Amino acid sequence: MNKLFARSTALAGLAALALCGCAKKDDGTITMITESGFAPYEYLDGGNIVGVDVDICEAVAAKLGKKLVVQDAKFDAVIPSVISGKADLAAAGITVTEDRKQSVDFSIPYVKSGIVIISAKDAPYKTADEVKGKKIGVQSGTTSDTFCVDVLKQEPERFDNPPTAVAALKSGKIDCVIADIDPAKNCVKGDDSVFISSDFVGEPEEFAIAIRKGQPELLATINAVIGEMLESGAVEAAKARHDARYAELRGAEEEAAE
Ligand code: GLN
Repeated sequence: MNKLFARSTALAGLAALALCGCAKKDDGTITMITESGFAPYEYLDGGNIVGVDVDICEAVAAKLGKKLVVQDAKFDAVIPSVISGKADLAAAGITVTEDRKQSVDFSIPYVKSGIVIISAKDAPYKTADEVKGKKIGVQSGTTSDTFCVDVLKQEPERFDNPPTAVAALKSGKIDCVIADIDPAKNCVKGDDSVFISSDFVGEPEEFAIAIRKGQPELLATINAVIGEMLESGAVEAAKARHDARYAELRGAEEEAAE
């Protein structure tokens, strides 16, 4: 290679890195971005973000020989953060959708999910038809949000996460909440005033980890880790462990509030 060519290639490489904002130095860490109000997949325990997604990303980091750094953000910012290179792994109970596939690559799925209606005990809504025209709370930027806009043809009330939406339902500000089944279960557990009042509304969903496009090696590593964790039952076990831990934390919170 002649010198001039080598130099211009190097410069072009640098310019490309600067342009895509992904010139991240390898400092031995790998960054996961999430939204911490989505138990059992992510929640706060003593100031730390923990959950099924964190366990999966810890295993990915271990396989890569790196230390995992976990960052919290609003759900709408999670996918943009991996596109811009601010984070390496987006793991936030993210549903694989055709739309999102245009901008990120998804791992193999690790959980099957779907969305349900949470109602107040005294005013239960059983179907999507029954909630049409009502004040529906959702987590902003989620598949529940899209369901309201695209299927019910209405704007929902948008919240940061399912627990804050359920708090608004309990205080009578909204009529119901639409959210993913597992976090929905955790939001209503041990609370007599709200419950899951419908079967799945909308399409079946699957959660996967999202990364910036064009990283086949990282994707293969993530897929290998998820494959192993599904086969050994580690994902199921993590789900049970985090459901139990979250219930324990909520119980302690209620006791302190009494
Ligand atoms: N699974 C839903 C989605 O991807 C919600 C995820 C979340 O709120 N963390 O839109």
